[in-house]
Amino acid sequence: MSVFGNDLAIDLGTANTCIFALGRGIVLNEPSVVALNTRRGSVEAVGTDARDMLGRSPPHITPIRPMKHGVIADFDALEKMLSAFLRRANPGGWRRPRLIIGVPAEITSVERRAVKESAARVKASGIHLVDEPMAAAVGVGLPVTEPTGSMVVDIGGGTTDIAVISMAGVVYGRSVPVAGNSMDEAIEQYMRRAHGLLVGERTAEQIKIEIGSAAPLDEPRQMEVSGRHLAEGVPRTIRVSDAQVREALEEPVAAIVRAVREALEQVPPELSGDIYERGLTLTGGGALLKGLDRRLCAETGLPIHVATDPLFSVVLGAGRLLSDGSLLAKVVTS
Ligand code: ADP
Ligand code: MG
Repeated sequence: MSVFGNDLAIDLGTANTCIFALGRGIVLNEPSVVALNTRRGSVEAVGTDARDMLGRSPPHITPIRPMKHGVIADFDALEKMLSAFLRRANPGGWRRPRLIIGVPAEITSVERRAVKESAARVKASGIHLVDEPMAAAVGVGLPVTEPTGSMVVDIGGGTTDIAVISMAGVVYGRSVPVAGNSMDEAIEQYMRRAHGLLVGERTAEQIKIEIGSAAPLDEPRQMEVSGRHLAEGVPRTIRVSDAQVREALEEPVAAIVRAVREALEQVPPELSGDIYERGLTLTGGGALLKGLDRRLCAETGLPIHVATDPLFSVVLGAGRLLSDGSLLAKVVTS
């Protein structure tokens, strides 16, 4: 074990929780779900196992997503999930870890305190909270401490967070409740409306990941989708094309584009000059939507960069702060 022991960086996302351990890299990447057993008053499962119980569990087992739309929806469930994940990431538990936790920029001071208290209960030594857009910017290597505008657009499960950072501070920050989940819902609605087919959340997400796009693709794609036929009540398989799914995704995609354009209008002129020159960086799982970079480029005229590992930008940034104390001191919020 290195001198850094078990220090951990955590991205507490609405869709996924990731943990980075100093010297070990990413040690955990699981859906942010915990399943509680109300009969025994215990935790039945966390992460992928709990996610697979969504919509499939008996009444005494409740799978919960503690974070919704970038805020804490269930404090008790959050604490149980976090402590289970931390035990898994820090199995020895012989030394109190130092924790850096990325939290949504919009959460209230009450929620901040709740996150800290949850973490404190798992016997952490020091706990630092960092705003997710800042962590993402550090994670993709933007010059966050310099007097120049860096723009990050993080498209997660519940929210799209837009931030302009300069001199280690967030100069402009905005969160809109349109992101990956809204895209899944739009696909669910489209399947029902246009094909009379009921599909679940997971199927809708798979369609988005496989053939979803925000701009026309070089090669057309199709996919077989199974669901329950609304009128006949029986299972049915149909074929959908990338063009159909693109149409279904138009509303959430347009809302994200609009939010970015509004941000560009509100940024102070000097910083906006920097951004027009250097472009913006997309992070979060939604950055992987095919053609989103081309679409944003066409509608804003900016160079658009997609992070190399958009699902890990926040946790990698928080991880870098574990080993860079002076940067940590500059960007940490509490
Ligand atoms: P959060 O920070 O809210 O936990 P993430 O950054 O982990 O969110 O991103 C999760 C979202 O990214 C989900 O809505 C997921 O469906 C979406 N996603 C993951 N991979 C892809 C992909 N290849 N194309 C489009 N969306 C994706
Ligand atoms: Mg996130």
